[in-house]
Amino acid sequence: MGGSLVAVNEMMFQLLLGAVDDIRRFRSSRTVYRNGKIDQGSLRKHIPVWERGKLVNSAAYITSEMVMDGKWSVPSGAVAISRQILKAEADYIEELQAASAAGMPWRGTFPKQLEACVRCGENASWRFALKVPEGMPEEYAWRLSRPENAVPLCRRCECVVKFKKQEGTRYDLVWGLWGPRFEALHRWYLAVMNNNLPESWSREDYPLWPEEYGGRSWREGSGSYVYCSPRPPRDIARSAAHFAALNRALGMARAKRKCRERFGQNFSLLQLDCSISDSDEPGD
Ligand SMILES: [Zn+2]
Repeated sequence: MGGSLVAVNEMMFQLLLGAVDDIRRFRSSRTVYRNGKIDQGSLRKHIPVWERGKLVNSAAYITSEMVMDGKWSVPSGAVAISRQILKAEADYIEELQAASAAGMPWRGTFPKQLEACVRCGENASWRFALKVPEGMPEEYAWRLSRPENAVPLCRRCECVVKFKKQEGTRYDLVWGLWGPRFEALHRWYLAVMNNNLPESWSREDYPLWPEEYGGRSWREGSGSYVYCSPRPPRDIARSAAHFAALNRALGMARAKRKCRERFGQNFSLLQLDCSISDSDEPGD
């Protein structure tokens, strides 16, 4: 009993130390914080949204009752700066906190074969399907940098399938690869464009997209915080329609038999040809 209390205290203290450290680093960055003031323009320009989310979390923790009435004394400068940060970010706090959970950089972090070209297996870059609409604030737009909006293709295959020129191909590829996860992202995209996102959306519980846009698990397209760290396109619930779209876009339906076999081999390598397991544990 006593032991676990000590452990909780220790954990909270470490959290606080980390938070104060974040604020201290913020204060010493001359581009964003000058003469005791936050430069909002350069804050948006120089700090990526997911880091701004972390900063907001730290500021919220430092100014929380738990800390203010607690047994630790927080440097008063850190409290003042935290309040400034919360004020400067007031319009976007929930979106930034969602970004801190789900918008971190992920390219190059998946197993190599899952970042290889989906068509030929060579070295690839991630190519994005939905473009960021003009005027969409980056506090929302980070969702379009998620893997669910991208497909790894090498430069040669990008040309062969006409990824840049044909919108239909872009949709087929990203939809086929990500199945219900792209469908959910796309529903969010349409809703944000039409300004009809559900009022009740809890970005804390569902950082990626509203609960009703996806299913209950990773494979079915859930946007829950449990499934929000970026992951490769494995264990996706794909239907025959998704496979048909992939085949169509990759030219497998038209390809000569020899090529078809080669691409088919790559499909198996990427474990795209069937959903490989039913387990849905977060953070494998
Ligand atoms: Zn390729």
